[in-house]
Amino acid sequence: MGKHYIDNFADDFGPEKVIHIYEPKSGLRAIVVVDNLSLGTAIGGCRMAPDVTTEEVFRLARAMTLKNALANLPHGGGKSAIIADPASADKEALMRAFALSIKTLTEYIPGPDMGTDERCMAYIYDEIGRAVGLPKVLGGLPLDELAMTGYGLSIAADVASEKFNVPLEGARVVIQGFGNVGGGSAKFLLERGVKLIATCDINGSIYNPNGVDIPALLEKVKSGIGVAASGLGRPFERDEILNIESDIFIPAARPDVITEKNQHLLKTRLVLEGANIPITHEAAEILHNRGIMILPDIIANSGGVICAASEFLGLTIPATYDRVRNTITENIQEWANRMRTGKRPPHDTAQEMARERISAAMSYRAHM
Ligand code: NAD
Repeated sequence: MGKHYIDNFADDFGPEKVIHIYEPKSGLRAIVVVDNLSLGTAIGGCRMAPDVTTEEVFRLARAMTLKNALANLPHGGGKSAIIADPASADKEALMRAFALSIKTLTEYIPGPDMGTDERCMAYIYDEIGRAVGLPKVLGGLPLDELAMTGYGLSIAADVASEKFNVPLEGARVVIQGFGNVGGGSAKFLLERGVKLIATCDINGSIYNPNGVDIPALLEKVKSGIGVAASGLGRPFERDEILNIESDIFIPAARPDVITEKNQHLLKTRLVLEGANIPITHEAAEILHNRGIMILPDIIANSGGVICAASEFLGLTIPATYDRVRNTITENIQEWANRMRTGKRPPHDTAQEMARERISAAMSYRAHM
């Protein structure tokens, strides 16, 4: 690889390796980026998409380096992408070919991501004995069934409610995206006495000032009924959910939903980032200046990565819930203390914590 090529993104932290794979027999084309290994073997998802670039895989790998470090995991960051359309590809053939081509790349452990699932991870595991996000029968911890990311968000809410004086009992909560993360967080937040006044899915929103019946909505969504058709609140336009005033807003649908242009609509006290990068950098800064506290995705939604690392270690389900609770509690406490004393925006503060941990680990390594 020419120097000019990597100049776009290489820095002191990485990447350690950028690998392009072409395997003519199966037609496999793939990219693997192992970013930083100072904390241990890299864990990061393997996505399947027709239009991924090397730089994008690098950015995703770097996000994993920071996220794993912040979650106190003994893992570095990596990411891979198989360049194919998941709707039409022969997934088994591609996953098996991919597995064999990374067989000797033992410093990278793949997990599921967009376009891949537990079955894909089972194929990799079958070939090389190394993957996370496996089916239950192979020792996998079913992340979505356990609602581990939603559980982590509820723990983040516990600590933040105390630190920033936003009582959870009776708090008006709005959740954008009632899927694995949004629905899971609702389930656990219900135990804290919050009132879910509005939520949505891709097809529409509902509003209920008395509080949506969360268990009933979880049941309906599970049986395939959309949020707007659930009959559990007054239906309204999907994107107008941003207009509903709340105490806690949880974006749990897509990236970049809150931008400079629409941030003014948001009237809340606390944002718990369930989705990855739901708020653009510029919008986050404005919201911060408006006095809205944002709990960054990299800390608040780390239940998923902690669950994957726990699976790799062979931890039990109760031990994994404990690990998620302890890690997120400690992180939010430290982050909140830094927020109080420092002048930096929320995401910068979280990244600073991650970078310090990686730099400390790198200081012990001779051959990075
Ligand atoms: P999901 O598919 O289960 O749920 C997404 C929900 O958002 C669905 O209800 C969907 O209908 C809705 N939605 C999609 N587009 C929308 C739009 N434009 N407006 C409003 N609602 C919309 O996905 P998930 O697993 O819950 O993940 C949600 C987000 O959280 C993703 O960005 C994902 O990357 C991130 N995330 C997930 C996990 C995890 O453990 N699953 C962990 C960390 C981060």
